[in-house]
Amino acid sequence: MQIQPKASHFIDGEYVEDTTGEAIEVIYPFTGEVVAKVHAATPAIIDRALTAAARAQKEWASWTGTERGRVLRRAADIMRERNHDLSVLETYDTGKPYQETSVADATSGADALEYFGGLAGSLTGEHIPLAGGDFVYTRREPLGVCLGIGAWNYPTQIASWKGAPALACGNAMVFKPSETTPLCALKVAEILHEAGAPAGTYNVVQGMGAVGAALINDPRVAKVSLTGSVPTGQKVYAAAAAGVRHVTMELGGKSPIVIFDDADLENAVSGAILGNFYSTGQVCSNGTRVFVQKGIKDAFLARMTERLKGVVMGDPQDPAVNFGPMVSANQRDIVMGFVKKGVAEGARLVTGGHAIDGPGFFIEPTVFADVTDDMTIATDEIFGPVLSVLDFDTEEEALARANDTPFGLAASVFTKDLTRAHRMAAGFEAGTCYINTHNLAPVEAPFGGSKLSGVGRENSKLAIEHYSEMKGVYVAMTDVEAPF
Ligand code: NDP
Repeated sequence: MQIQPKASHFIDGEYVEDTTGEAIEVIYPFTGEVVAKVHAATPAIIDRALTAAARAQKEWASWTGTERGRVLRRAADIMRERNHDLSVLETYDTGKPYQETSVADATSGADALEYFGGLAGSLTGEHIPLAGGDFVYTRREPLGVCLGIGAWNYPTQIASWKGAPALACGNAMVFKPSETTPLCALKVAEILHEAGAPAGTYNVVQGMGAVGAALINDPRVAKVSLTGSVPTGQKVYAAAAAGVRHVTMELGGKSPIVIFDDADLENAVSGAILGNFYSTGQVCSNGTRVFVQKGIKDAFLARMTERLKGVVMGDPQDPAVNFGPMVSANQRDIVMGFVKKGVAEGARLVTGGHAIDGPGFFIEPTVFADVTDDMTIATDEIFGPVLSVLDFDTEEEALARANDTPFGLAASVFTKDLTRAHRMAAGFEAGTCYINTHNLAPVEAPFGGSKLSGVGRENSKLAIEHYSEMKGVYVAMTDVEAPF
């Protein structure tokens, strides 16, 4: 199977190739085969993308918000019409099952384009009356050229979640996908161009971290939005700070799911499945520390083990398959290293725990019980299908232990006690909290992290604040009084 794109980059409204850049092989995680090859951006490609974006941004920002919104909503329609093909591509790029990609990737990207397209016409400033008839009005201005840098787990979604609010506000974007999944963002660029975005408004350049680093340091970049790990976020944030650039940081996590004795068992198990095994566990907001109150623990583990019999591994392009391989051999090996540490540090392996032989990078869904707070599998982000169950007695204890982490991306509570649910949500040190569910990310709601998990929010009206800035204009209605 070959899914070679027309060229490596999409710049100024067209596909652009430069084979002098380092080759990047795209490997289908189910077969281990190379299915496409692209080339990393050279300095000339980077310059071409930024030049195009800087020029296009001026024109794009001169359009009315309603006109920009129309383009984004048209792009959303095209994305939905092509959902099947885009989902097949997403599955080749990431190895996630088509059963997931057909409902969670291009569809989520289309939601973002539609939502921010709808908001674009209503982005305004305000009028502030002052003494003597003077007043200030504020103008909501775009930032300029925004740089998006993506992780490999949701390539279409990340390219859209960053692009849609950026473009709605009148910015242009240069997007660098992860080298592991370079294909899908090219389609986002192609669709936006087809929908009527002027050439240069949304550009994609390929490359490893070094290309991202070169882009961040360019003075033409006004804002950097990264989805990635905490160590990368720290580097990118520091580099952006040198140029005093705006940032959004969507980073990693080690989120808690707290399940009380009175929880609906089936919903709690479903939430823990979504929060640990969807996308083979490769989700930043996963609730990988599952605190289970002692009275429900045995029932929880028994039901979880039973439900995991419903896992169907295999060719992710087969719509019947619901559990895919890890994105790469490297990620599989990293995750298996954590599994081995879990066993060595004394956690009880309830189910799974093995990599599966074969060309695909599969790991069995893995559940550990009797995990303690200090074990590596309870402290470090694993980013694979590994669920850890930790016991607890009281609400106060659960909240304190749930918060005892440098991360703060997501947190959830399962209980039928209404007041306790809201107390927990208020007490969680996390940017994205759930009551009786986990891991949903509708475009209407803010998404993002506290503490080491990030800065800023994606989605919702709040994202507008991170892709625009207010200019205050003071208007004097009287003569100017000066001291001399
Ligand atoms: P990485 O941090 O390894 O990489 C993220 C992106 O940054 C990649 O495109 C990478 O390029 C690029 N990059 C690496 N170094 C630099 C640098 N010095 N300057 C600029 N760019 C750089 O993350 P992964 O791709 O491995 O993704 C997994 C991580 O992403 C997990 O920690 C996960 O939690 C997090 N994540 C967070 C989400 C959120 O919304 N909070 C959502 C999804 C994932 P390349 O890989 O090509 O070298």
